[in-house]
Amino acid sequence: MTAVDAVAGSVLAPNYHPLPVTLVDGLGSWVTDDEGRRYLDLLSGYSALNFGHRHPALVAAAHAQLDRLTLTSRAFDHELLEPFAARLAALVGPLVAGPPMVLPMNTGAEAVETAIKAARKWGYDVKGVPADRATIVVADGNFHGRTTTIVSFSTDPDARGGFGPYTPGFRVVPFGSVDAVRDAVDETTVAVLVEPIQGEQGVVVPPHDYLPGLRALCTDQDVLLVADEIQSGLGRTGTTLASELWGVRPDLVTLGKALGGGIMPVSAVVGRADVLGVLTAGTHGSTFGGNPLACAVGLAVVALLETGQLQARATTLGRHWGERLDALVGEGLLASSRRVGLWAGLDVAEGRGTGRQLCERLLARGVLAKDTHGSTIRLAPPLTITPQDLDLATDRLTTALR
Ligand SMILES: *Cc1c(COP(=O)(O)O)cnc(C)c1O
Repeated sequence: MTAVDAVAGSVLAPNYHPLPVTLVDGLGSWVTDDEGRRYLDLLSGYSALNFGHRHPALVAAAHAQLDRLTLTSRAFDHELLEPFAARLAALVGPLVAGPPMVLPMNTGAEAVETAIKAARKWGYDVKGVPADRATIVVADGNFHGRTTTIVSFSTDPDARGGFGPYTPGFRVVPFGSVDAVRDAVDETTVAVLVEPIQGEQGVVVPPHDYLPGLRALCTDQDVLLVADEIQSGLGRTGTTLASELWGVRPDLVTLGKALGGGIMPVSAVVGRADVLGVLTAGTHGSTFGGNPLACAVGLAVVALLETGQLQARATTLGRHWGERLDALVGEGLLASSRRVGLWAGLDVAEGRGTGRQLCERLLARGVLAKDTHGSTIRLAPPLTITPQDLDLATDRLTTALR
């Protein structure tokens, strides 16, 4: 997109190409536009809205905190910081390899940067990698955020091109191959950083032996397994972490998106205390990380996930939904569909238009979705969606494809 394509008269930088809809209101799985039309939100802010729009428990927690204390900076403690860390550690700690620590940040990219910094420092302080030589193995097709370091190891030309010089120290290997990672690991390697399921790439699920293979390799080579669960985590796949689907406990996990309950950016790294413990006072930080309002919302998010009910719901609803999506493949409307929990990547069949065109047809039929990579669309309904609304959305998808 060039400057001349930008919306006439807009001063907004043209780094997005949104669908032509202006939203004014949202509740649960539904949003309303400025002309009063209603839509089912099947994008859920790329999983930032796992609990739907304005979940009452989350809004109540935010409101209560707004009337007490909203920001302290980490120069001072506040009453929700330890409780938030403790409750998040109780939820996610058992799913990581070793006694956990929690390091709160704001955005997903910041959590990934934090994990990279912790892994490098652990490599120098503990593993004994020579200064400034640390390497991290990553997968092609990855999406870990938009900072200069993170785009340095992106394989998406749009995300990476034009932003050099690039941060060194990353080795990119094919997603899904343990052998490729084994070949890339040497005595300088401090971490393997992967998304257990690649969301942005179109909900790409690796072979069943990939995550367990990475776990065994990392343990064997004294390399940290870092799972970016910013999109896959917190219930989306029917489990608290996608890594659980393979019984794998990473050394570090990055969380974001849904951790902010659709209200504000909240992210965190949860992982081995002996690794995060290398980030001593003054070595890393954030003005807003772990602020009182973020902790209030984060605590309420953890409370929603503690019972396991939403995760179970994603599994059950997803099973029926998956059957319906597979039927669309059977009908020749979709070339293929991948689904885990309440998360699906759909490849539009040839002759049925681009992903973007399908999203425009869905918009006209009252469903919000977003294309990714040409002919693929990704769907992530709120975990709180009713079976009726999910069926309605799937009916509308079927008509839009026909
Ligand atoms: C969205 C996302 C990020 C980046 O999160 P931001 O909050 O946009 O910085 C990182 N990793 C994964 C897997 C994501 O889906």
